[in-house]
Amino acid sequence: MKFNTKTIHGGQSPDKAYGSVMPPIYQTSTYAQTTPGGHKGYEYSRTHNPTRHALEQSFASIENGNFGLAFGSGLAAIDAIIKLLQPGDEVISTNDLYGGTYRLFTKVFEKFQIKFHFVGMENVKQIEHHINAKTKLIWVETPTNPMLNIIDIKAVANVAQQHKILLAVDNTFATPYLQQPLDLGADIVMHSATKYLGGHSDVVMGALVVKDKALAEQLYFIQNASGAVCGPQDSFLVLRGIKTLHIRMQRHCENGKAVAEFLATHPKVETVYWPGLESHPNHDIAVEQMNDFGGMLSFTTKGNNYEEAIKVVERLKIFTLAESLGGVESLAGHPASMTHASIPKEEREKTGVVDSLIRLSVGIEDQHDLIEDLKQALNR
Ligand SMILES: *Cc1c(COP(=O)(O)O)cnc(C)c1O
Repeated sequence: MKFNTKTIHGGQSPDKAYGSVMPPIYQTSTYAQTTPGGHKGYEYSRTHNPTRHALEQSFASIENGNFGLAFGSGLAAIDAIIKLLQPGDEVISTNDLYGGTYRLFTKVFEKFQIKFHFVGMENVKQIEHHINAKTKLIWVETPTNPMLNIIDIKAVANVAQQHKILLAVDNTFATPYLQQPLDLGADIVMHSATKYLGGHSDVVMGALVVKDKALAEQLYFIQNASGAVCGPQDSFLVLRGIKTLHIRMQRHCENGKAVAEFLATHPKVETVYWPGLESHPNHDIAVEQMNDFGGMLSFTTKGNNYEEAIKVVERLKIFTLAESLGGVESLAGHPASMTHASIPKEEREKTGVVDSLIRLSVGIEDQHDLIEDLKQALNR
């Protein structure tokens, strides 16, 4: 099955009761048993739920994995991965990453004696430098947030395999429409399904997909034991979202390109970060690794003025000033004061998150309206 068919049919079959094409929202916590232990595969909804199961099958299908797991948020999914580790273990992580992931690693898990090294992974040698006998996990986010750096997943996977270290990839920005990390050698692919997979800014959810059965069993154990699952209603919504993932992504990419090219020639814009531009430092890897370049981009305005950047995002009318990304509607954000405010200024500036940086999640509206909106906000 090809990707554009998997989004609609992957892992799905009509419901057994009445043949409903979409799985019903099984809004139940428990299931009747005929005799103790005599049930139809479902006992309690933290452990299993048919609507969630249908979604988990879809996750596995679109990411070319064998097992999918749905969580109550992207961070709950990351939390489950880190719980595979023991005190004393070390993790090598991308340095330019989602602020909430950084917070979870440093503010929650460092307390449990797990050590994190934050490393610029555009040069894979930087990773090898930090590997020792305690290294158990490499955490990759690509494209990175918000700088849109591209990390060579296959090259990192080679290093991870050589040293028998797990490799997890946060595929939230790219989605499997653009890249499939398991096929490039990753062990775990993670999503904030809140973003493109859900696609309509109406659900918070996380996903994991793996190929290996033993690893899947460990993660299912943690999912059930820790209990950060999502509900059936949200499972239904994300399953519906995934059915249009491919056509939404196609338009996100087209609009992303139009907006990036417009900004790149605008006199008030200093730098545009979008992996599809030839000027992008990792453009070559992006061409090799990704099917297209996505709808996420960042740019800085000339003079690097904090107040001016805030004014630009406030003047936007079609782009909504909001956290999050990946929905049908275009959003704009100011990382230094919003998504990345939890990262110390000194740390964030090291990775390029300067005061004038503006991040756009380009939606699927008419691209002319989007460009007009940016024009009026920049020119005023
Ligand atoms: C949003 C996001 C997360 C966290 O997901 P939640 O669903 O908000 O918990 C993790 N990684 C990336 C890249 C994200 O954009």
